[in-house]
Amino acid sequence: MATTILSQLSERFESAGKEGDLLFFPSEVHHHEESGIEFEIRLCPALQKKPALPTPHFDAGLGVSKSKDPFSPPYIPGLFLGELKDEEEGQEYVLLLNKYSVVPKHFLLVTKDFQSQSTPLMPCDLVQAFLLLDAARKTGGSFFAFYNCGENSGASQPHKHMQFIPVDGGGPPVEKLAKTVRLEDEKKPFSLSALPYANHVRRLPALSSSTRREDLEESLQEAFISLLDLTISSVRHDPTYPAGSPSYNVILTLEHMHLIPRKLEDHVLNETGDKLSVNALGFAGMLLVKSETELEAVKKEGVGKILRAVGVESVHEQQILDAHEDDRNLDRNASL
Ligand code: AMP
Repeated sequence: MATTILSQLSERFESAGKEGDLLFFPSEVHHHEESGIEFEIRLCPALQKKPALPTPHFDAGLGVSKSKDPFSPPYIPGLFLGELKDEEEGQEYVLLLNKYSVVPKHFLLVTKDFQSQSTPLMPCDLVQAFLLLDAARKTGGSFFAFYNCGENSGASQPHKHMQFIPVDGGGPPVEKLAKTVRLEDEKKPFSLSALPYANHVRRLPALSSSTRREDLEESLQEAFISLLDLTISSVRHDPTYPAGSPSYNVILTLEHMHLIPRKLEDHVLNETGDKLSVNALGFAGMLLVKSETELEAVKKEGVGKILRAVGVESVHEQQILDAHEDDRNLDRNASL
């Protein structure tokens, strides 16, 4: 099913645009090198015409009215790509084309029932997202997935959704960086230390749709939990972190999982005073700006500085020391 959907994606994207179900905003990518990383800044002036929506509250209990939830039925037929069901856990999903696309073929994996965008990714979410990335690979495309979790993550919709966009073979800029890291132990989380903010990454073992379901689930779930633990630990080191459940961004490729703790949704640019909303794409190394002035302001202020301002400080070294201490305590207790 996933491969059928992916193989029809180009055609469906074209026809949704022609029918007027999907709005495509043309943009151009500017490359900007900083700390040895080639960041992409996408300039999309047409977005100035798109009204900015206030960030909704994501708590499940607040009850989102179905008529206001674009991810509840009835779906716009031109955007509806199909349904998926996780046979193991029974969770059902809907695949939709992004109605407001800046990148062609941008699509969403949405839970069929309402679930909150503040909830962590469940094992079935991770498995289905990974299988979609694998299906894309099989149909000749390269995509990555992202999830904006929580009120300060840059998400605009409260109904649980993961997103998928195509990238060139090497992946988004931070993924290219992750691929260059040599690891002594591939099962341990690591941090991209060239980046000036807390980020937690796990290298995934070789997985595909032919991997046994339980092994696929175990690998993805184990990686996610270890990164979520570190995300929460990073946030706890910041005494001014806002109350409530922590926000973070997830970036998933076929090779790595990245979690980035978030403190703020947007950053006020020094030069212009404009608010720049940052989501997982920004942390993938692909910021979006709406004008030449904003583009220049971002380059002048520095991508790393902007991301640090909406993320949290890295305490990776301390976390490694704490992990060693825990290992030593376990060894000591085992030998008693
Ligand atoms: P986020 O802003 O990260 O929460 O992602 C939500 C995405 O849903 C945005 O990229 C919107 O463009 C997209 N979107 C909003 N309304 C619809 C809709 N009715 N159908 C499909 N996508 C939508």
